[in-house]
Amino acid sequence: MKSVYVETYGCQMNEYDTEIVKTILAQNSFEIVDDVESASVVLLNTCSVRENAHRRVLQRLSILKELKIRRPTVILGVIGCMAQNLKTELLEEKIGVDVIAGPDSYRNLPDLISKAIGGGKLADVLLSRVETYSDVFPTKDEGANAFIVVMRGCDNVCSFCVVPSTRGRERSRDPEGVVEEAQRLASMGFKQVTLLGQNVNSYCHDDCDFAELVQSVSRVDGIRRIRFTSPHPKDFPKRLVDVVRDNPKVCSHIHLPLQAGNDRILDKMRRTYTQREYCALAQHLRSEIPELALSTDIIVGFPTETEEEFQDTLSVVREVEFDSAFMFKYSERKGTLAERKYPDDVSDEAKTSRITRLVELQRKISFKRNSQCVGRVFDALVEGKAKKPNQIFGRNDANRIVVFPDNGAKPGEFVSVKIHEATPNTLIGKAV
Ligand code: SF4
Repeated sequence: MKSVYVETYGCQMNEYDTEIVKTILAQNSFEIVDDVESASVVLLNTCSVRENAHRRVLQRLSILKELKIRRPTVILGVIGCMAQNLKTELLEEKIGVDVIAGPDSYRNLPDLISKAIGGGKLADVLLSRVETYSDVFPTKDEGANAFIVVMRGCDNVCSFCVVPSTRGRERSRDPEGVVEEAQRLASMGFKQVTLLGQNVNSYCHDDCDFAELVQSVSRVDGIRRIRFTSPHPKDFPKRLVDVVRDNPKVCSHIHLPLQAGNDRILDKMRRTYTQREYCALAQHLRSEIPELALSTDIIVGFPTETEEEFQDTLSVVREVEFDSAFMFKYSERKGTLAERKYPDDVSDEAKTSRITRLVELQRKISFKRNSQCVGRVFDALVEGKAKKPNQIFGRNDANRIVVFPDNGAKPGEFVSVKIHEATPNTLIGKAV
């Protein structure tokens, strides 16, 4: 029996895809192992979102080449977004890779690997307009949260983003497959699911839109919490706002990527909304949904961004007061519109100065918003051991991390916790 070891890099979508890959291979008489030394096939499921992601994988491949020298029959494979982005470049002799497969080619992996064992280098990087792996129900290890991918690809073409070229055009999974997966997860003891997509609120399958899909999943017995990520600010339907407000199972947390605060830069990014439209949506969501926590993504130093234009990003952050944010320096990506049209002309020094000031501002705001939770009681869904000894952590409905003394609760259990202290990233409390 051929044994396979899979290593995952990148986003939640890749974590889910790794489970899909393991399930497909196990269904084709491959044994899944969790130790690279005992594997006859080693697969790296890769990310392409920033240059650093590529560098990490190439470093890992150079280490794995030593494994191939010691065990020449080992098959080395690169799958996922980097495989789709760099394609056969990765099959160059010096890298030592035998198989590459893009995110839409995982059904062919058993065949690709079997042929590679017979000798030769194999590649499948064909993007699909229909593949959603809807009939593949990933095997999951126990835990607090389970991801369910509800759609693949993205039809937006944000100029900095590599996703449309690595994951292809949008296609929504049939709601029956999503609900069946939620039922299977509930029967395995999962109480929370996170619905995943590059742009979930453009989900549409026949006449089922995303709001309807969320309602259907909420009718699954045993599922107590539903999260979703990522929506695009350009189309945030009223029906979805109503569902988040009115359905007690849907968490009051929305991740709403801003990316930048200046209209000229938003236009160059092809984000299709303006600063005022974004702020109006954020204010509307906050006024409609009590207790709503808003998080976001921001890029600093996009080509031609001036200091004044960066100041617009800071002013939106002050105005909206995000609960948390993922903040990045612009990283030019091969195959993107920005790479083709705009030289990466903002110096790394300027990017570093901007990200430092942005992170400092956001820390103050996150601390202010977390401090408003002191004295209150929240239900935390336990995820595991905290860094500090004898402490465990979980998340409340608003996706805030809650740390408290270990009372024996297991991952996947809910605990009511009274908060007595806050930091920019964490609420600290005691089980009540
Ligand atoms: S919506 Fe998101 S995934 Fe789609 S192109 Fe824009 S940044 Fe990329």
